[in-house]
Amino acid sequence: MGMISLEKVKTGIKELSAKIKKEMESEEEIRIMHLCGTHEDTITRYNIRSLLPENLKLLSGPGCPVCIIPDTDLQMVFHLIQNANIIFTTFGDMARVPFEGKSLFYYRSKGHDIRIVYSVFDAVEIAKQSDKPVVHFGIGFETTMPSTALAILDGVENFHVFSSHRFFIPAMEHLLSLGEARINGFINPGHVSTIVGVKAYEPIKEKYGVPQIIAGFEPYDVMLAVYNLVKAIKNGEKALLNEYTRAVKYEGNVKAQQVMDEVFDRHDWEWRGLGVVPASGGAIRKKYEDYDAMKVFEDVFKDFEPKEDARKRACRCGEVLRGLITPSDCPLFMKACTPKDPIGPCMVSFEGTCNIWAKYGGYK
Ligand code: SF4
Repeated sequence: MGMISLEKVKTGIKELSAKIKKEMESEEEIRIMHLCGTHEDTITRYNIRSLLPENLKLLSGPGCPVCIIPDTDLQMVFHLIQNANIIFTTFGDMARVPFEGKSLFYYRSKGHDIRIVYSVFDAVEIAKQSDKPVVHFGIGFETTMPSTALAILDGVENFHVFSSHRFFIPAMEHLLSLGEARINGFINPGHVSTIVGVKAYEPIKEKYGVPQIIAGFEPYDVMLAVYNLVKAIKNGEKALLNEYTRAVKYEGNVKAQQVMDEVFDRHDWEWRGLGVVPASGGAIRKKYEDYDAMKVFEDVFKDFEPKEDARKRACRCGEVLRGLITPSDCPLFMKACTPKDPIGPCMVSFEGTCNIWAKYGGYK
């Protein structure tokens, strides 16, 4: 925001609120979905929904990379660490996601060598200093995939990746094809957009015509995005707007796209809540199979059978991720499911909507 004073920002937000309310007078309901945990954090922390009229709904979508990883992936990881002599590395958020009440932290307490890292390159360093195989839990969208690709291209023999990476753009298209959340406009994910660029959203614009805007993360950015989207929706424009020009270019980060495409193929993979999303799975290409934990440890996975977690049966994280309900619509929210004792990943991850609502009291 440069040198603009806080008072000016507050005034600007109030003005936008008034303008949005005016635009929405005598309008049918408009439903805008954002696709990024950081946007939900801004929206809930600053109570942005309270500045919008009743007939304008701001939904959160599948923008939390930890939340969308299905239980099958989690169970495969648990199976691997129990049946192979490895060092397993993961980001802290992922280590808390439970299956049948057990998480990677639980398995660490039982003596398995599980290490929390802040970057995939920390995992590569661990591999360089060890004779044991090191398996890194690769998670995240296009934002983190280029780093994982670079780590693989480093060529450290005992470094492997269990890839739960997923490409984000196919999920937007999948949501629209499902049609159930009745999405009138998207606030596109800011971090993903820095990598994929504005151009990556053009096919969605052409095929579905749903207005989209790439926005920054300040409250003013979000309000401005909502205002511009409302105008585009009312005018029936196939808009693809970029309000986050300080970080997002039309072409995106071309080098990052190249390394990502060099290492990862696009398979039809399951997402929590969304089912199988065509061409969304970041599968490691055959060329790099020596670094692919699924290939290197294929014998370990031969007797793997996925199960259902009875404790999660009542968890509605999948519907939260599809924008069909809010966390407070889940009967377990802040009762059986809390940040201290989470049932679903939407309550575990700092980018999960349930966790964010719990943190800022979005449920009041
Ligand atoms: Fe699942 Fe807990 Fe969120 Fe309910 S509050 S949807 S149980 S993560």
